[in-house]
Amino acid sequence: MNWQIAIDGPSGAGKSTIAKLLAKKLGFVYVDTGAMYRAITLKALNLKIDLEDESKYDFLEETVIKFDGDQIYLDGKDVTEEIRSLEVTNNVSLVSKYKSVREHLVSMQRKIALDSNIVMDGRDIGTVVLKDANLKIYLDATLEERAKRRRDERIAKGQEVSSIEETIEELKIRDHKDSTRLISPLRKAE
Ligand code: C5P
Repeated sequence: MNWQIAIDGPSGAGKSTIAKLLAKKLGFVYVDTGAMYRAITLKALNLKIDLEDESKYDFLEETVIKFDGDQIYLDGKDVTEEIRSLEVTNNVSLVSKYKSVREHLVSMQRKIALDSNIVMDGRDIGTVVLKDANLKIYLDATLEERAKRRRDERIAKGQEVSSIEETIEELKIRDHKDSTRLISPLRKAE
């Protein structure tokens, strides 16, 4: 079996920074599963479906998500920047709670893991996607620190930002949704 390193934790804890460094050092492939949920959210927004209606997510089968280094492609289009917009960020936890969306992406993630040694980050990697991972890491930081990092990251990229107080509120809402949903909530693996 290939090597599998799972990194889970709430938003802004530093998962992707650590995962990228680790993958580079070890020569492993890095898989950002949050980017996959974001890509599906972007597509749902572009299609203008009712996000609250799970039956409208019938586009999953025909959707193509591909990684190429740090870039992510949705149906052949580079959406690396677009998936980080506030609109996607504020809707992704709603979209990621649906069984059909999760089953589809988890199956894609497991397929990617068959091909190479990987570092995969997300919310349910150690608990669901790669239950037998060789190493499971749960990464966390204070809410204030996480909000500061998220905000600084957006400023550095020249993206639209909310105040620090609003960023804290946005993170709180997303963390709450991610850790209380019925299917694969964010939690530490045993
Ligand atoms: O990691 P990132 O903040 O980009 O993830 C965006 C969102 O995607 C999370 O807030 C969560 O709702 C969802 N997600 C998930 N399961 C994963 C990775 C991300 O539900 N494995």
